[in-house]
Amino acid sequence: MTFCMTDEKFQMLAIERTSPFCYGCYKVVGSIGDDSGLCTGCGSDDLMRHLNGVGAFG
Ligand SMILES: [Zn+2]
Repeated sequence: MTFCMTDEKFQMLAIERTSPFCYGCYKVVGSIGDDSGLCTGCGSDDLMRHLNGVGAFG
């Protein structure tokens, strides 16, 4: 059995387990799994992902 994780799958997994994080507002701007892509605070679409206990990345 081979296991291959594509970038796309990794991204899906990352979205499922992280919350959108706006660097401009410096806060989490959605719930875990939310991938609406827009900050509810300032409307920015340049969001990072935030993983509980690890921090923001992306
Ligand atoms: Zn924002």
